[in-house]
Amino acid sequence: MGEGSRDTGRGRIPGVTDAERRAALEAIAAEVRDCTRCRLHQTRTRAVPGEGDASTEVVFVGEGPGQNEDREGRPFVGRAGGLLVSLLGHIGWRREDVFITNIVKCRPPGNRDPEPDEIAACAPYLQRQLEVLDPAVIVTLGRHSMGRFMPGARISQAHGTTRLADPDTGAPNATVFAMYHPAAALRTPAVERESYEDVAHIPGVLVAARERRTEQRRPPPEPVAVGAAPALRPGSPASQPTELDQDGAPNSDQLTFF
Ligand code: URA
Ligand code: SF4
Repeated sequence: MGEGSRDTGRGRIPGVTDAERRAALEAIAAEVRDCTRCRLHQTRTRAVPGEGDASTEVVFVGEGPGQNEDREGRPFVGRAGGLLVSLLGHIGWRREDVFITNIVKCRPPGNRDPEPDEIAACAPYLQRQLEVLDPAVIVTLGRHSMGRFMPGARISQAHGTTRLADPDTGAPNATVFAMYHPAAALRTPAVERESYEDVAHIPGVLVAARERRTEQRRPPPEPVAVGAAPALRPGSPASQPTELDQDGAPNSDQLTFF
């Protein structure tokens, strides 16, 4: 991504390269593939860490792998995945343009709901993925994913709406957008219709999230003192002396942003 044909990329952020982000995500994925932190490892064929564009601004979070995902080790490759791709196509996006993952990375046997202790055991992986990706928008797919990012919400009311993400999720500055799970949409035509209506809001949600993030990064306006000497800029030598190392060079720690 990043060529601008589909507007899901963050472009270049100074300090973190795409290659660094890819490597960090791959390190997490490698841990997930060998993970034995909860009982789901005993019945999985393959763990499903998630996949997508490491520099995307949009992360989709489903519930957990199904049978096809368990076999292939990739998220949303079965029928629900087909509908997800179709929903993305509705707004001109491809699955490679976003990052797609799940609340639990291993298949609950018989596609049962994940248990609270399994969700808790797996949560650090999603948290770390979000810390690396720093998405502007998190799209939750279904109740279990929504429960993590919009605690207490009911999907019948919350779908198609946004909330600010709790920083504890790993995404300190993301907008959460709730959708029905594509599997629910496959079962019920009315839910499928609503899912197409909901997905159409995502590009606008992304633009608004971006503006909010840019606004937060902007330094506060300088105070204007009428008739007084001009205020010192924050960070200027007079207001914030630069620490010097013993040899007199500026302390390089102060120049590190990440
Ligand atoms: N359903 C999910 O929640 N996740 C997948 O990866 C596939 C189906
Ligand atoms: Fe580990 Fe998560 Fe798989 Fe449980 S579901 S074994 S915590 S990767």
